[in-house]
Amino acid sequence: MSGPAPALLAAAESYIEAGWPVFVLGRTKRPVANCPRCRDAGRDHDPEACACLSCHGFYAATLDLDRVAAMLSAAPRGLLAIRTGALAGLVVVDIDPGHGGRLDPALMTPTAAVASGGGGWHLYYAHPGPPVLSRRLPGRTGVDVKADGGYVVAPPSIHPVTRTPYRWTARQTVGEMPPPLHAAVTAPAAPSSQPTRPPATAGPPARRPTGGDDSAGGGISRPDLLLAAHLAAVARAPEGHRRTTLYGAARGVARLVAADHLTATEAWAALADAGRAAAQTEREIRGAITGGFRDEGVPL
Ligand SMILES: [Zn+2]
Ligand SMILES: [Zn+2]
Repeated sequence: MSGPAPALLAAAESYIEAGWPVFVLGRTKRPVANCPRCRDAGRDHDPEACACLSCHGFYAATLDLDRVAAMLSAAPRGLLAIRTGALAGLVVVDIDPGHGGRLDPALMTPTAAVASGGGGWHLYYAHPGPPVLSRRLPGRTGVDVKADGGYVVAPPSIHPVTRTPYRWTARQTVGEMPPPLHAAVTAPAAPSSQPTRPPATAGPPARRPTGGDDSAGGGISRPDLLLAAHLAAVARAPEGHRRTTLYGAARGVARLVAADHLTATEAWAALADAGRAAAQTEREIRGAITGGFRDEGVPL
């Protein structure tokens, strides 16, 4: 193989100029596997500070074009990806019509947008500053928020299944989120505007956590931070410990669901994303999440 694909490299340069850290996914849209050293590294190993070219999924994202060129040379059929979140100044709304996602003009005002190779849309908005979780947009099916702890595949990557390129649909600049969208992406996971789930009556009763988290005493003071900590633990887990870490995170997140801080659907989406970013297979992800919820007695 010769050098990096020129079209991807040129696009990477323009993203870097915009201040968006970029990295390269494997050709199946999954992060490149960690090197043996990072795989076996202990929990003290900081993925954000790791010097490896492409270990730790989105943590490999960089504003150094030479590093991106090296990533593309190492994975000539890889896909270009942009790390989202506060670091990039980006919140991306990911609409997947294949799962019922719809563009809502009131919520999703015109901004820089990508037609994904899979038939959906990515709407790029400016990050507001305070944490914005990557999760299902509350109250919407088929619409995900890619923000802190997330990434999106970027043009002109070719979708591995459809062979269709991701492309910019409009040369619009990245806009501010309109107030309703800002409210939706920063809403606590179980906002009062949504019907509250009735307490689980089927199956074993949801046990109250018996300690460990800051939830002892009944209240969870910062469910958003607790959720982010569980997801970060999955991202940091060395290979060989990832399945058990994801299982542990699932138990912790199940307790948040039991306390009505988020829905089981949102929990599943957040945990599955974290698992994928940590190069877990769909089967491993499903097993860890269903096991974690089952062992906390929380219905999925
Ligand atoms: Zn490494
Ligand atoms: Zn590393």
